[in-house]
Amino acid sequence: MTSFDDDPIGATVRLLLKLPGVGEKSARRMAYSLLATGPTFAQSLGEALSTLHERVRRCVDCGTYSGQDRCTICRDARRTSEILCVVARPWDADALERAGSFRGRYHVLHTLLDPLSGMGPEDFPIGPLEQRIREEQTREVILATPPTIEGEATALFLAESLRPLGIEITRLASGVPHGGDLEYIDPITLGRALDGRRGL
Ligand SMILES: [Zn+2]
Repeated sequence: MTSFDDDPIGATVRLLLKLPGVGEKSARRMAYSLLATGPTFAQSLGEALSTLHERVRRCVDCGTYSGQDRCTICRDARRTSEILCVVARPWDADALERAGSFRGRYHVLHTLLDPLSGMGPEDFPIGPLEQRIREEQTREVILATPPTIEGEATALFLAESLRPLGIEITRLASGVPHGGDLEYIDPITLGRALDGRRGL
């Protein structure tokens, strides 16, 4: 394999190829485009990428990615703590935000129940969620884990575990295609699934 010095374009292409959804052709287009647009954009992009890990942390309240200790949604006093939407990943919360109708707050699990991969009920990080529900006097928890086998299993597990807290527990309405990630569902469909959520 040639080194970065011998073949900087090839080395850049190989790095870009590691990104999801990027094929050989688009990686080459990106590399040549970065050269064609001059050094400023490439330098800004490089700086954004090289400092990403140190600048992004998990929100102390909801766990989503944020540049601050507390994310913008958790800092927003107009959002109600009475409704908590539980999602698997930060980008699921982004997808629901794009639907535009939700005024509650989020709780990001960063995992799903998946005993075959070592995440069983006994290891599941449910403690912080239970604590938030108690402290923030949550009335309703919307289980918005993805419509996959692991997502459904997680929703059922959470519904059973949270039932003793005496809150309303709902799940996104059907209409969300099975097996899909929330981020690939268009905002209108996702908004409808949120509005039409059903009790569990
Ligand atoms: Zn937050």
